[in-house]
Amino acid sequence: MINPFQAGPKVKIPVLTYHAINVLQNNYAGNDHLALASDLETICELGLRIIPLNRVVDWHQGLLEDGEVSRSVAISFDDGSWFDFYDLEHPTCGMQRSMFNILKDFNTRSATSRQAHATSFVISSPQARFSLDQSGLIGKDWWGDQWWLEAVSAGLLDVECHSWDHVHPDLDHVAQQEQVKGDFSQIKSFKDAEIQFNRAGEYIGEVLAGRRPSLFAYPWGSASDYVVTEYLPENRSRHQYRAAFTVDPRAVAKTDNRWLLPRFVCGRDWIAPQGLRNLLNGICNARVL
Ligand SMILES: [Zn+2]
Repeated sequence: MINPFQAGPKVKIPVLTYHAINVLQNNYAGNDHLALASDLETICELGLRIIPLNRVVDWHQGLLEDGEVSRSVAISFDDGSWFDFYDLEHPTCGMQRSMFNILKDFNTRSATSRQAHATSFVISSPQARFSLDQSGLIGKDWWGDQWWLEAVSAGLLDVECHSWDHVHPDLDHVAQQEQVKGDFSQIKSFKDAEIQFNRAGEYIGEVLAGRRPSLFAYPWGSASDYVVTEYLPENRSRHQYRAAFTVDPRAVAKTDNRWLLPRFVCGRDWIAPQGLRNLLNGICNARVL
């Protein structure tokens, strides 16, 4: 029998997620770019470090000691449009600094021990991104993959996988056999999973000059039991992922299933700087006996 007061995990790492296409207004609550810029400062003020998401997974898998990652935070972006990398003129909100450039700006004025890093989970299929650009953005071809290699080469933005097509309801055809859209937990056959995970990783690897993604973020954060208990654990040499992320609003703990690592989402789990401050203080200052 384990005594919870003696055996609790000491270190937990919050992963914060942003969506760069969330640009509705030029204020914190209505713009994930402005939220990210503010949150980097908050994280710094709290004396926390930002570490690459891959290091969170290294720690989770026993490759790093608790002491190497204590009081750390990781950052991820979902969907991977051009708003992640290029400054763009938004049709109603004007020029938007890209998430990449916000990281770069922060790093330019921060000490070397306080450098920011993030991981962009991108939709793999070029056809899906082209269609989503038409239906969800303004049809200016702002969902291309021209920036992936440059982002990774710069060393402050990793590119990882957010499925083949997001089984997005705006697409005419999705890689789900019954054409059930808008729910990634409907990926529950080998045939569908092969496209959403393996084919998706293969394409990203081609664009990244051979470096296949090793992390996956489920669209809308959900996955079927088949994917979590069979496809991912049993086909590792095929798909080459070593962890996958949901949007369960908790910090990553050593006890989590590697195929169900949690993440917090900006705009859902906190909507103001003070909300993030409370959230991070609750996790990173917590002392488990
Ligand atoms: Zn998404």
